[in-house]
Amino acid sequence: MKTIKITPRGYCHGVVNAINTISNLSDLSIKKPVYILGMVIHNKQMTASLEQKGFITLHDPSKTRLELLDSIDEGTVIFTAHGVSPAVYEKAIEKGLEIIDTTCDDVIKSQITIKEYLAKGYDVIYIGKHNHPESEAVSGISSQIHVVEDQSDFNKLDIHNPNIVITNQTTMSIYDVFTCSEFAKRKYPNIVYIDEICDATRIRQEAVAALDSSVDHVIVVGDKLSNNSRKLAEVSIQKAKIPATLIENIEDIDIDLLQTIDCVAVTSGASTPTKVTNEVISFLENFDKNNPSTHNITTKINLDNLLTKKHF
Ligand code: SF4
Repeated sequence: MKTIKITPRGYCHGVVNAINTISNLSDLSIKKPVYILGMVIHNKQMTASLEQKGFITLHDPSKTRLELLDSIDEGTVIFTAHGVSPAVYEKAIEKGLEIIDTTCDDVIKSQITIKEYLAKGYDVIYIGKHNHPESEAVSGISSQIHVVEDQSDFNKLDIHNPNIVITNQTTMSIYDVFTCSEFAKRKYPNIVYIDEICDATRIRQEAVAALDSSVDHVIVVGDKLSNNSRKLAEVSIQKAKIPATLIENIEDIDIDLLQTIDCVAVTSGASTPTKVTNEVISFLENFDKNNPSTHNITTKINLDNLLTKKHF
């Protein structure tokens, strides 16, 4: 099958930093047990791999990071690349936990910008996904931060401050954020707009949007919990006008679909292990519609070695 490997794709620098930091922890004498507050990256295979190595991931979508912290009384807590609110930091210190903070530089930069505007007396409209850890971390900074996910959320806003800034979660769709911010400018003509989509998210989306009609289908390798992976599929459908499917690994590949197309393009989210994407690419390159021996979608990836650095 003709297979286009979209570049760039896969792990971003924030994810590589988080995983490298955690990989190195096994060599250090840190307080045990070691908990990860939420999924270190939104990828279930990586979470399983970490569990095998003794890291306890606290993941419950119905609970905030602050609530998850209630279940830890000793040891070490790892904060993920999405960042945490000041209240989470303070509570972890009060509990006497050792803290390993893997918050991505790009997330820290966006939080600093928001704090600067708050200090100048602004209200902040934050385009982000409700209940996403990055939005949760930001909204915990101040009650003057208002999270909106789409245009309908603007109707619920009740802001009387003449000074308003609008910014966004780092992993949103660049096109959705543009639409939302244009809408905001009409509602609040003096609003200040600061784009905080990270470069990793932006260039992955732009590469998908630039695909042409010679591509029949786009496969995005990524976990369904991964916001940036879902957005890549949306960009393909909405901007490139090419059907797209989000798959977690090779075992989600739809053979019936492949029988109907001639050219597929592959990308992957910033939290997708490179090995998982490479296995999908290699399968598609070898796929021959008329040769059933090339249709076996059983994964050969061993969770034991998902954490090894040579795969970054
Ligand atoms: S997607 Fe962007 S903000 Fe998130 S970890 Fe990667 S580089 Fe950082």
